[in-house]
Amino acid sequence: MKITVDREKCIGCSTCVNLCGDCFELIDGKSRVKDNVDKCESCDLDEVATACPVGAITLEK
Ligand code: SF4
Repeated sequence: MKITVDREKCIGCSTCVNLCGDCFELIDGKSRVKDNVDKCESCDLDEVATACPVGAITLEK
């Protein structure tokens, strides 16, 4: 699965980082997907993508 964060859309609310710090990190006030993350044992990525208030997280399965 390919996980993408659209940094143009991201408002840096930290929701994704709080839901899963294994997948996402805030860099310069914007979220990014951590290196080499393509699935997650510790979160439901669909739930995290849905929780993003601006729809910046895309999952390609
Ligand atoms: S939940 Fe969305 S807007 Fe908030 S930090 Fe994550 S990607 Fe950015």
